[in-house]
Amino acid sequence: MPLLVTGTIGIDTVHTPTAKAEEVSGGSCAYFAAAAAFHHEPVRIVGAVGGDWPENHATLLESIDGLCLDGLERRNDSKTFAWGGRYFDNMNQRETLFTELGVLEEAPPKVPASYSDSRLIFLANSHPTVQMDLLLKFPDRELAVADTMDLWINIARDELLALFKEIDGLIINDSEAEQLTEISNPITAARAIIEMGPSFVIVKKGEHGAVLVHKDGIAVVPAFPLELDGVIDPTGAGDSFAGGFMGYIAASGRLDFPAMQAGMAWGTVTASFTLGSFGLDGLCSTTREDLEARMLDFRRIAQIS
Ligand code: AMP
Repeated sequence: MPLLVTGTIGIDTVHTPTAKAEEVSGGSCAYFAAAAAFHHEPVRIVGAVGGDWPENHATLLESIDGLCLDGLERRNDSKTFAWGGRYFDNMNQRETLFTELGVLEEAPPKVPASYSDSRLIFLANSHPTVQMDLLLKFPDRELAVADTMDLWINIARDELLALFKEIDGLIINDSEAEQLTEISNPITAARAIIEMGPSFVIVKKGEHGAVLVHKDGIAVVPAFPLELDGVIDPTGAGDSFAGGFMGYIAASGRLDFPAMQAGMAWGTVTASFTLGSFGLDGLCSTTREDLEARMLDFRRIAQIS
């Protein structure tokens, strides 16, 4: 099933308790696409970067098999989206140090005509107006899933609520689910979000895994257990989880509850490779064989058949 993603392609600055990395390749769309491409191809990207987009970031994205970059616009007089964040000692919580919207403040990127048969749409983190703009171009879609984060809940809540009425699923962090609903229990918060429009919600809980609340039931998946030296930089883990999830769904061609449950396991295993390095390096240095081997481990550890 043809899969399309829009979101940010960004330049990240990441501080962890023991290291700092500058000008790292990131962005919600980039992480999602790199993760989804393990499972399904092509993954069609719609996004924009500015004239300051580092050449080595371009080389890295171009090196990933299975991505279609026809919808990636380079705007030489614009600035690339840039984000800085700092992780606290437990590596589970972080604060945003800065967000420079750059191209996100301009007209949304154009969608190539060759993408018109896309049926699975993932709206990775971006301004909800940009997400809505893209979604409305795909009236024949079979599944539309979105992600969002604290910034958009704070500055574009009404646009976000309008988007919720159009999407089928939402993937969101536990803290953002609470911010949105003022409910701390992730399942009750997910049910409150379902009242706002989507028919299923996946709440990501960092090292505590994720929960799917769907009309056909509830499913949980634990996180892949990593030791201290396996967690170098959690940035992009949420987007990679979504990429693994949607990539699996696209490859299976199924949209039912059991497929979503299996997709959550693949999302978890895919995301575990993002945590091991800064930026996209973790995903880019992983092979499909590595992924399958870790999936076998995960099935054994989590007793998933
Ligand atoms: P995650 O760790 O999965 O939440 O994703 C972090 C990635 O999202 C980083 O690579 C950032 O460049 C990007 N990002 C951070 N803030 C935003 C935002 N407000 N909108 C879109 N993308 C963002």
